[in-house]
Amino acid sequence: MNERILLSLAHMGGSEREWVEEAFRTNWIVPLGPNVDEFEHRLENYLGAPNVVALSAGTAAIHLGLVMLGVKAGDEVICQSFTFSASANPICYQGAKPIFVDSEKKTWNMDADVLEEAIIARKKVTGKYPKAIIPVYLYGMPAEIDKIISVTDRYNIPVLEDAAEALGSEYRGKMCGTYGRYGALSFNGNKIITTSGGGALICPDEESAKRVKFYATQARENRPYYYHEHIGYNYRMSNVSAGIGCGQMDVIKDHVARRRQIHDLYRKQLADIPFLTVHDNPTVDFDSNFWLTTILLSDESTVTADELRLALEAENIESRLLWRPMHMQPIYADAPYYGGNVAEDLFNRGLCLPSGSSLTDSQIGRVCEVIRKSLMK
Ligand SMILES: *Cc1c(COP(=O)(O)O)cnc(C)c1O
Repeated sequence: MNERILLSLAHMGGSEREWVEEAFRTNWIVPLGPNVDEFEHRLENYLGAPNVVALSAGTAAIHLGLVMLGVKAGDEVICQSFTFSASANPICYQGAKPIFVDSEKKTWNMDADVLEEAIIARKKVTGKYPKAIIPVYLYGMPAEIDKIISVTDRYNIPVLEDAAEALGSEYRGKMCGTYGRYGALSFNGNKIITTSGGGALICPDEESAKRVKFYATQARENRPYYYHEHIGYNYRMSNVSAGIGCGQMDVIKDHVARRRQIHDLYRKQLADIPFLTVHDNPTVDFDSNFWLTTILLSDESTVTADELRLALEAENIESRLLWRPMHMQPIYADAPYYGGNVAEDLFNRGLCLPSGSSLTDSQIGRVCEVIRKSLMK
């Protein structure tokens, strides 16, 4: 049997161990500590954004973003339907109601026209505007964020970007996650960089970053005894995890470059296969990190996405169907949905290919061969 090729593996650069050992040597085995500060500085430098708070997960970052935007029970929040459940679940943690909108075909991300339609429709239904908007950068692809923000500005609704998959992606030369009022990042095991589990929230100013840290450490008021005026959370990143993050920041540029190179290899090697397209940057404004390279099969293909997945699996290659949209999930069966069938159609025809930055050219070649054999038989 050929060696297993996985979708996206943690990829250590080498220096991570030293940072973690330093945490042990100094006994900083707690949330907070010098590695957390250093990791935040490194992220800030990389992103060109000054107020980044390291947290225990990307999901925690989205949740605290909503807390900071004052989302409460009775509010509505509009979220891209075509995404992972962690984009939307924090809306429910706040007792608020998720409203889902469809994607557009170029980026697979939030359709700004449908967004505006949904904003207007919700105002008619509830008498008030949604409290926040959550666009997502799926598989690293930048959304049409300028268009989205020009809509949300018209109604004065803040944007919380779910950039969990998009660390290193740029739209018009500016990092994804730095466009909205808040931006959420994830360092889960299979993302662009990992801290074994972690996330960060990109904040608009120092004051709000301080407030995020306050909420992330149980919302303790500044008194000699424990005193609470707000509900807090235990969401801060640990000093050990942040050590891994510091080491990962040494290699992030190389890892993003390698993901883009892998996308390029797929694009070239799959170019002549009929009924298959590799999802690509629509124009020069978009510069995806290509966290995962994704393909679409056209209606003419006699092989379905799931059949292709099984053919790859038979050759010991892991691939994955696209995210099943939230409006098609049992947990959100009752949530209002605006738009057509773009996300649903993509879900039916798409597949994520192995894209980890540690994959070799010959492994990518093996994946392409199996795809070729399956689709051209
Ligand atoms: C990974 C991911 C998250 C959640 O991040 P965690 O660090 O796993 O909590 C949120 N949204 C999207 C789109 C993701 O891919």
